[in-house]
Amino acid sequence: MTTKLIDGKNVAEKVYRELESDIRILKAANIQPGLAVVVVGENPASLTYVRNKAARCEALGLSSFKTELPVETKEEELLALIENLNNDPAVHGILVQSPLPPHICEDRIIRAIDPSKDVDGFHPVNVAKLALGDPTGFVPCTPLSCQRLLVEAGVQISGAHVAIIGRSMIVGKSLALLLMQKGREANATVTVLHSGSHDIAKISRQADVVVAAMGRARYIGVEHIGEGAVVIDVGINRVSDSSHPKGWRLVGDVDFDAVRDRCSAITPVPGGVGPMTIAMLMQNTVTAALRASGISMNP
Ligand code: NAP
Repeated sequence: MTTKLIDGKNVAEKVYRELESDIRILKAANIQPGLAVVVVGENPASLTYVRNKAARCEALGLSSFKTELPVETKEEELLALIENLNNDPAVHGILVQSPLPPHICEDRIIRAIDPSKDVDGFHPVNVAKLALGDPTGFVPCTPLSCQRLLVEAGVQISGAHVAIIGRSMIVGKSLALLLMQKGREANATVTVLHSGSHDIAKISRQADVVVAAMGRARYIGVEHIGEGAVVIDVGINRVSDSSHPKGWRLVGDVDFDAVRDRCSAITPVPGGVGPMTIAMLMQNTVTAALRASGISMNP
């Protein structure tokens, strides 16, 4: 079987090109979409993500407001910063990079973000809107990118059986809510599998689309994938590799080499879901700016 490689970088570039016209419209109205990114502590992966997001904002002509806070920052100080960002008209999107230090309650921080600036889609108001199918909310970026990759790969989502392995809010559960909605580019029959599920392989093998979002390096093997299925690998895991200059490399939750000949299409890691997630963050930020400006009354 010829397996199609779903190239997240290409699709992300397409999204950026699509955003250009909205950014131009906003600029003509003297509005520059602005994304505030807050990082607490010095987690190297978080600092890299934040740098990448700021660089992408700059490339697109969005303003980015980066705040790097020391690890000992108190919860009240972070809440005060969020309050300022909520009230700042130049800021249309707010993202607090996870993980936060253990003394800060992540839930309290998420709930403090104005839902209309919650471009990560984690605020309970936005989660509820997703569950209700209300398009005026924000959907988390990673589920949005999985959906868009399926659409771009020409996968008929409506009526398909999608098996999602992992039930976190950031990926699995939100993707299930998104793909089961009645409507365009959704309408799937969704099965959500997790650590309490029995015989995951037996169930996932029946699926037309398998989404792996577990955080387990190369866990999903050929026994989990039905012949001709589409595979979306959300996982990002570091594994040691002495042949690599850094001594490690990134792999997904799917054993790519083992399953690639069995599936009809698959996302690579890196270069699949990852680049698309940043593109969806930019899309949500531009949407937030359009909504705040009143230029677009569309959801
Ligand atoms: P998470 O919060 O740790 O959730 C993992 C989920 O997988 C949980 O629901 C867990 O089940 C389930 N799980 C773990 N081991 C399992 C097993 N052996 N069998 C069945 N289910 C199992 O992780 P996450 O934040 O969703 O992230 C998942 C992966 O995606 C990670 O590798 C992460 O780095 C990556 N990620 C990538 C992007 C991107 O942009 N590409 C974005 C976000 C995350 P329980 O609920 O029962 O514990």
